[in-house]
Amino acid sequence: MEILIVDDSRFIRFLLAQILKEEGYQKVHLASSAQEAFEILGLKDDKVAEIDLILLDIVMPKIDGIELCQQIKQDSNLKDIPVIMVTSKTDLDSLERAFSAGAIDYITKPIQKVELLARVNSVLRLSKEIKKRKKRERELEEKTELLEKLNKEIEEANKKLEKMASSDGLTGLANRRFFNNKLEEEWKRSKRKMTPLALIMIDIDYFKEYNDTYGHQAGDECLQKIAQKFEELVLRPADLVARYGGEEFAVILPETGLSGAVKVAERLRIGVESLKLPHQKSQISDYVTISAGVAIAKPNNDDGLEKLVKVADAALYLAKEEGRKQVKDESELVEDILYEIETENEAII
Ligand code: GH3
Ligand code: MG
Ligand code: MG
Repeated sequence: MEILIVDDSRFIRFLLAQILKEEGYQKVHLASSAQEAFEILGLKDDKVAEIDLILLDIVMPKIDGIELCQQIKQDSNLKDIPVIMVTSKTDLDSLERAFSAGAIDYITKPIQKVELLARVNSVLRLSKEIKKRKKRERELEEKTELLEKLNKEIEEANKKLEKMASSDGLTGLANRRFFNNKLEEEWKRSKRKMTPLALIMIDIDYFKEYNDTYGHQAGDECLQKIAQKFEELVLRPADLVARYGGEEFAVILPETGLSGAVKVAERLRIGVESLKLPHQKSQISDYVTISAGVAIAKPNNDDGLEKLVKVADAALYLAKEEGRKQVKDESELVEDILYEIETENEAII
């Protein structure tokens, strides 16, 4: 414990110091004026004071004890150091000002050893306790901050993981897994709300030749550009474009009928052609093209989801057969194919 005595009387400084030293307080600093006190406390530079208690005379020339006390209490590094005023009976009136300046207690001159030690000991005990609590509070705050930071990091990592688990690394579109879940979900919703649900299956034409001609890297870039185009052209927030696999894409259009879905598919087909990605080896165009098949799930019959995907696939197959670079929908499928899908489906069920 370090105690600072500020008093302009050499005798009082000596007396106070001697009593305190006898009591076991070995580190006692003496200042004869506010200026000297400033130097010891480090009020004039940024040094944090190590003083645990200040005994401060009220009446001093130039800067008096009350003013010094005010300055100490205004300093963020020093304000927690307890100040006991030392006052003669005649300046008892000034005590009120001393307390409002931030003093914690007072002793009167002439100095009574018992009174001095009682006050000093109790103030130091109190300040020790306050320091301990403040330290604990600080530690707690630091721990809370650290916890908050860690929580945020975990949250971000989880978001990243979730995104990684549901999106395709190359194109950033939804992946097959996410597509399956969303289709199932929309399928149920469409049944509940009795609204149609459209599915478009898309496949890039002659993409093997594209890779063979321009290389796999260029093939990947082509997939990215097409994916971006799809994202631009699929407008409703509930619509979902997914990479179904390889060079195949799938689009889910909730609450959309056949003619609407065909329009979207045409928009996508034209959109890809407008990219004018050169494709020397395509047999149908100078540029990369796509084929698409459209199917609709009707909520009022009990067909399974598998059938919806199969019908859309069959329509895509038809588009390929009829020369690629086009959209076909389920209404154009011949009865045989639909019958085949139907019976296959029943066999699965
Ligand atoms: P079609 O017009 O009948 O669809 O012919 P195609 O060549 O597009 O069809 P096919 O299914 O025979 O070939 C698909 C090719 O797509 C095979 C592979 O070279 C390429 N491909 C699939 N996935 C990727 C990929 O992630 N990156 C790249 N660069 N190429 C891929
Ligand atoms: Mg394919
Ligand atoms: Mg293809």
